[in-house]
Amino acid sequence: MLMAVRMTVLASGSRGNCTVLSSDNSSVLVDAGISCRETLKRMRGAGEDPQKLKAIVISHEHNDHVAGLQVLARKLQIPVYITEATYQSWRRSTKDPEGKPAKLERREHFQPGRSFMIADIMVMPFTIPHDAADPCGFTFKASGVKVAVVTDLGYMPANVKENLETAYRALGGKMSLFQSASVTLALQDKPLQPITLG
Ligand SMILES: [Zn+2]
Repeated sequence: MLMAVRMTVLASGSRGNCTVLSSDNSSVLVDAGISCRETLKRMRGAGEDPQKLKAIVISHEHNDHVAGLQVLARKLQIPVYITEATYQSWRRSTKDPEGKPAKLERREHFQPGRSFMIADIMVMPFTIPHDAADPCGFTFKASGVKVAVVTDLGYMPANVKENLETAYRALGGKMSLFQSASVTLALQDKPLQPITLG
């Protein structure tokens, strides 16, 4: 079955989180927790063309989600979608090559609960419970297919469950959950280390 949205997990867990969401024409990077070089290498290895990337979307400012962000954003010359609070928190703990507070030249501030488009992919950010400035999970929708990416979730509040369930229904009932060291939940068309949520 041809899926309108494809999800490829390049890295997950405490050593770095990075996922690619692709439609037929474009793709989005969710988090940038591994180095630029490693991200591009793993993308090519997974058959994902870095040229298709339209944006980087950031869930929160913890290092295992942003370690490669500054270099990736500069190298790829694509906008970074990040909440204002997450951006400010990231800047406080990140230096640019000259030792000044880091800056993202091309950035778009989104708000949880307000959807936005990146090329042909509709992104809906929603608040998740996590010890960060403004942590978010996301659903991504293209051509009627919806997937969800939620990382570092401490527990499952109602709003997150709701977002996962609508994505689940959009997939025609096929759902798999996976996790690594930190809790990662996702919905996609084929199983990837299925787990049971305890
Ligand atoms: Zn975190």
